[in-house]
Amino acid sequence: MWTLIILAIDVFILYMIIPFVMTRILGWGVVSRGNAAKDIAFTFDDGPDPCYTPELLNLLHEHDVKATFFVLGKKAEQYPDLIQRMHREGHQIGIHNYTHTPNWIYFPWTNRRKQVDRTADIVERITGERPILYRPPWGLLNLGDLVFLRRSYRIVLWSVMVGDWKASVSAAQLKQDILKKIKPGSIIVLHDSGDTPGADPEAPLNMITGLEEVLCDIQLQGLRCLRVDELLDKEAGRIGAVQSRANVTTGSTRSY
Ligand SMILES: [Zn+2]
Repeated sequence: MWTLIILAIDVFILYMIIPFVMTRILGWGVVSRGNAAKDIAFTFDDGPDPCYTPELLNLLHEHDVKATFFVLGKKAEQYPDLIQRMHREGHQIGIHNYTHTPNWIYFPWTNRRKQVDRTADIVERITGERPILYRPPWGLLNLGDLVFLRRSYRIVLWSVMVGDWKASVSAAQLKQDILKKIKPGSIIVLHDSGDTPGADPEAPLNMITGLEEVLCDIQLQGLRCLRVDELLDKEAGRIGAVQSRANVTTGSTRSY
């Protein structure tokens, strides 16, 4: 009996706790922010939602902001027009599983096939473009995800989270918290649906109201809002430029 309990605890630590520490605390194998000097990236999870996503897309369009949507495959199947609109308006579409279930309950190969690849197939069928970014529900990965998913997808977490899934957090509070926490390179996670476990159905209304004021404010600060791939490309470009300058200065011909 005790042997079984000890074995279960070992499996729990190995399969769930170790990847949590590696990714959420040490940042290994995941992207949580960029190093851009003037750019940030807004990301929206748990949609598309027939009520809130169109309103959010209108707001982003008014402010000429491009963002990244981590969508659920099941909802993408239900609302393909919203996925098409995101794609047509220049936003990036990433994967947030087929249903909002934690990866800890699956074997890694089952998770990849039933949740991640299945959603990538759905988005590709709708837009003609296969997603390359993945964000697990609640940011929780199992040990195998770090091997099985990283071969095909870039795993993106976040550097700014403000509890926008709770209706008790007002639009004014959201605005204040986002403006206090964002820095150049920030990846901000928000939610354009309130029907996932632990969220309040009406919460995205406060998020959209607060975000409108945030967008006005950050544009005055000169910060630009990019998709996650653009934010990371800029970082790669900046590092490349620094390395080229270093090569010119030192006369180095070494390639990186
Ligand atoms: Zn989520």
